[in-house]
Amino acid sequence: MMSSKDMLAGKTALVTGAGRGIGRSVAVRLAGLGAQVIVSARTDGEITEVAGEIEGSGGKAVAMKTDVSEEREVEALFTRIQEEFGRLDVAVNNAGVGLFGPLENFPVEEFDRVLAVNLKGTFMCCQQAVQMMKPAGRGYIINIASVVGFKGYPGQSAYTASKHGVMGLTKSLANEVQEDGIRVSAILPGGVDTRLVRDARPDLDSACLLSPDDVAQAVEYLLSLSDQAAVDQIYIRRRSSQPF
Ligand code: NAP
Repeated sequence: MMSSKDMLAGKTALVTGAGRGIGRSVAVRLAGLGAQVIVSARTDGEITEVAGEIEGSGGKAVAMKTDVSEEREVEALFTRIQEEFGRLDVAVNNAGVGLFGPLENFPVEEFDRVLAVNLKGTFMCCQQAVQMMKPAGRGYIINIASVVGFKGYPGQSAYTASKHGVMGLTKSLANEVQEDGIRVSAILPGGVDTRLVRDARPDLDSACLLSPDDVAQAVEYLLSLSDQAAVDQIYIRRRSSQPF
């Protein structure tokens, strides 16, 4: 039996929003499973540090700076992946922003920003990933949605709309590409101890939050399943906490 260290040996995995938080943990975990990881986000210093940490512990990683809300940057990212590696086995669409406040006076430009990164960014990365994976007849796309992909809390209308949108495109795409050998799943975490939550909810105790590695473990679980198994979504939350 293959050891988990080799589970992704020879495979290439892209993680967006991998400079910190959940994406960082996912990138480190996939590298630990043997994947060549593309560590992507906007902040050069953070992605370079994550890629360096992976390489320093014997893994394979390269940092590729990308703003997922910009079509040309997304296209350039996938062109570079094709040129440098010639394959993409796993795409974890994780990049996201959280801007919160009551709908009544929520700035429309902030609504546009949340939708542009969380929903349009995920859409464009899915599109490029499918174009690379389809000719190969295989691939796994994992979209990091949120518990607000099916729930709705006060003061989170824009963010919630974006994550409901991610769920919609994930469900549709999963059916659209299953005959092409491509699997598409969503992970819907409750509160996770990252900068996004710390900025939005400084009142929350980290004892009621998941750790980023809990989400990374869910990613590993999906990738460990046999090709015939399709998991549409995983809702994961901190045990014993108020569902958040
Ligand atoms: P985080 O610590 O703030 O990390 C977000 C990552 O996304 C960073 O690497 C950030 O880097 C990147 N990013 C933001 N805008 C981007 C853009 N336009 N293009 C490319 N990368 C961009 O937040 P997190 O909590 O880990 O969030 C990761 C994902 O999990 C998000 O989709 C979030 O909605 C989702 N999620 C989080 C929670 C939670 O409680 N924390 C719960 C459910 C779901 P740059 O700013 O350098 O680009």
